[in-house]
Amino acid sequence: MIQDIYPHKLNNHYYPDRKPAEDSIVIVIRDNEVLVKGDIFPLRKEVNAEDERLTYLFSLDGDKNYFLFDVTDDKDTGLPEGYEFVNVRSFRRSGTARKYRVFLAYTALQLANWYRNNAYCGRCGKKTFHDDKERAIRCECGNLVYPRIVPAVIVGITNGDKILVTKYKTGFAHFALVAGFTEIGETLEETVAREAMEETGLKVKNIRYYKSQPWGIVDDILVGFYCDVDGDDTIRMDEGELKVAEWRSREDVELQPDEYSLTNEMMKMFKEGKA
Ligand SMILES: [Zn+2]
Repeated sequence: MIQDIYPHKLNNHYYPDRKPAEDSIVIVIRDNEVLVKGDIFPLRKEVNAEDERLTYLFSLDGDKNYFLFDVTDDKDTGLPEGYEFVNVRSFRRSGTARKYRVFLAYTALQLANWYRNNAYCGRCGKKTFHDDKERAIRCECGNLVYPRIVPAVIVGITNGDKILVTKYKTGFAHFALVAGFTEIGETLEETVAREAMEETGLKVKNIRYYKSQPWGIVDDILVGFYCDVDGDDTIRMDEGELKVAEWRSREDVELQPDEYSLTNEMMKMFKEGKA
């Protein structure tokens, strides 16, 4: 999965006192694009920007500090030669970018969007500032905003030796599993049961947690569950959202083109008889 970057190790802890050094790495974001040369991010010394414009993101492998430079609102300021902006989704799909760098780009994009979307207070409209201890944005009116992380479930519904696979009506073209966002006031297990019913008309039982996955490009924390169909296995597909919803036996499960997603791993585990 995208976050499985061993032997690399990401440290997401926020250190407010970390300042950029010449050899710090800068992830430059412009809307949904990241600045790269191949799959390389520029160094601090290549970027012509005041330190105040650079926001500490995270560190990798203990000693490499990464900073955010968001140029969405002032294009092309101080950018190094030889680099180009690439859509973050395309960066993943290129197949040539190293996985840990794709994961860093996804994570940086999520933080960039959060910082940019909260530059002004949603309560009183004043300019906000960064908290001096934790990753949080404050306003003098008292409003306190933490990073936006949106929970969503991935649901592998099994029926003996078959699993329910889907294809979205638009967008992502490959096979996937039932999925959906958690509503306020709902447990994750309730989300699983509701989404299964909404998308396929199936009742489910034996809901069991598998793994989770940060998916920064849409601010998600994805939570994977397997469950069993309960009773009638007739599929009544939500035609507004899906174009395919069908039972597939293990050998007929078609995987996605890369191994980044939790969905793909869950389909693979089932295909291999491990789930
Ligand atoms: Zn305010």
